[in-house]
Amino acid sequence: MIWVKKSMYKHAPVILVSGGLILWLITFLMDRYYHHNHDLVWMPFVIIQMIVSAICGIMIKKFYQQAQTDMLTGLCNRRYFHEKLSGLKTKTPVSLILIDIDNFKSINDTYGHITGDQILRQFADILQNNTRGNDVITRWGGEEFAVILPQTDVKEAFKIADRIRKKAEEHIFFYEKIICSITVSVGIASTKNKEDIDIEQFFKIADKALYKAKEKKNFIIVAEG
Ligand code: GH3
Ligand code: MG
Ligand code: MG
Repeated sequence: MIWVKKSMYKHAPVILVSGGLILWLITFLMDRYYHHNHDLVWMPFVIIQMIVSAICGIMIKKFYQQAQTDMLTGLCNRRYFHEKLSGLKTKTPVSLILIDIDNFKSINDTYGHITGDQILRQFADILQNNTRGNDVITRWGGEEFAVILPQTDVKEAFKIADRIRKKAEEHIFFYEKIICSITVSVGIASTKNKEDIDIEQFFKIADKALYKAKEKKNFIIVAEG
């Protein structure tokens, strides 16, 4: 849909409403004028209306998807992640894992930013391939990722985090002729049930664990309590 300009996404509601109003006004006037003939005169306008609405619907959908997606990795963004976490309703344990790629600055410095971006993309794939469908993954910051694991206690969360850590360590990252490897550090926080969660506090706890894991690197720390 190359012909759909970017600015049209921004003005989609105005286009939808004013387009609909104009078409209905024309239809109304035509109906009054032609009514004695036949009813089919409505048809083209109804069809046009449907096409316009469909296009706007697609645009809005695309816009909505973009608003909740991290452009680089295709993972969900921080806003969607917060929404999802706030809306999580469960009486079972919930775990949060925070992951930070080790020494990423030196990867950028050695291989360049574009390679760095490719590594972030490939690492996002590792996360997607090693989590479940209802886990929520986000790129939390530059080279930092967060995963919410619903219905997952601390033991299970550790298993998942360790699988991710190992997969990242073993993976050969390719970009053009560059081959490199990475390691990640992980902090884990868990609650017994969702009602216990103060989201900000939850992140602080996981972040503290990550900070400790960073002292060793390629390491996982589970927050106590
Ligand atoms: P540590 O092991 O302590 O985490 O060290 P680090 O080098 O990974 O951490 P630091 O905070 O010093 O550097 C993070 C680097 O991540 C610096 C920044 O250029 C890079 N970065 C952040 N966002 C992006 C991005 O979107 N693309 C690329 N290529 N690099 C990014
Ligand atoms: Mg970092
Ligand atoms: Mg880092």
